[in-house]
Amino acid sequence: MSAQIINGKEIAAQIRETLKEKISLMEKKPKLAVILVGNDGPSEIYVRNKQKAAAEVGIETELFHLEEGVKASEIEQLIENLNNDSDVNGILIQLPLPKGIDSAALLEKVEPKKDVDGFHPYNIGLLQNGSDKATIAATPKGVLRLIETTGVDIKGLNALVIGRSTIVGKPMGMLLLQKDCTVTIAHSHTKDLKTLCQNADLIVSATGVSKLIKADWVKKGAMVFDVGICRNENGKLGGDVDFEAVKEVASYITPVPGGVGPMTIAMLLENTLEAYLKQNA
Ligand code: NAD
Repeated sequence: MSAQIINGKEIAAQIRETLKEKISLMEKKPKLAVILVGNDGPSEIYVRNKQKAAAEVGIETELFHLEEGVKASEIEQLIENLNNDSDVNGILIQLPLPKGIDSAALLEKVEPKKDVDGFHPYNIGLLQNGSDKATIAATPKGVLRLIETTGVDIKGLNALVIGRSTIVGKPMGMLLLQKDCTVTIAHSHTKDLKTLCQNADLIVSATGVSKLIKADWVKKGAMVFDVGICRNENGKLGGDVDFEAVKEVASYITPVPGGVGPMTIAMLLENTLEAYLKQNA
């Protein structure tokens, strides 16, 4: 039997609708400040999409679009001003920043309560400690939400996360560990990824390598979540997983597009509302 395809687009739309209803009842609206540096085409599109999605649920946004050659000290000053501005509830620094700017150092300047991306070391630490006060990075949070919609009890499952980035792989591993999975985090130096995949009950792949995960790598009935965004050999948008073949083996699978991607924006909006509520508690 073919896998159940998880419709991330629909689930994300429901989450956005709930956020919209909650925010419509609030007198003062949450506000998100977005810092964009330079003229990277894809980043400009991502920022526009985030602003549009925020507006649709009633979150105000303000874009600070800085010149490519801006000094790190000027960005730091802007972050400090936004940290001190009580009208601003969330601060998002669109990555990647131009070469030569230390993103990690700037992310540390954001007030943790306004860190809606969950990239500040304080929030990463809270996540590691299992605190419910942690702001969790939008993509892994979105994957977990998709897992939860299946209703499958994942306790004790062998979970394999492929990719160890700070924004996806590592927090994903931590979240699955908290849900009592036995977690393996694989990466580009991992030996025999195929065998690790074959032993996994749940796979989250976040590498950006097109069709890395093949049908004979996946255990029958495994759950497969595809974070990757890749162009395949025909230039078509796809993910890390050979979707058409793997869906014949898996129990649940996310498509690309329409799986994890829409959840990322929905979780960013949710994090912004949560930041507002924390600041106004
Ligand atoms: P990254 O480049 O920071 O990390 C990629 C990870 O994959 C690294 O840890 C690397 O070791 C690992 N990797 C690369 N090739 C591998 C291989 N052959 N075998 C095993 N591991 C391998 O990327 P990232 O920011 O974590 O993003 C990963 C992918 O997810 C990209 O395609 C990105 O576009 C996508 N992404 C999607 C969303 C979304 O909302 N859908 C959000 C963030 C990232």
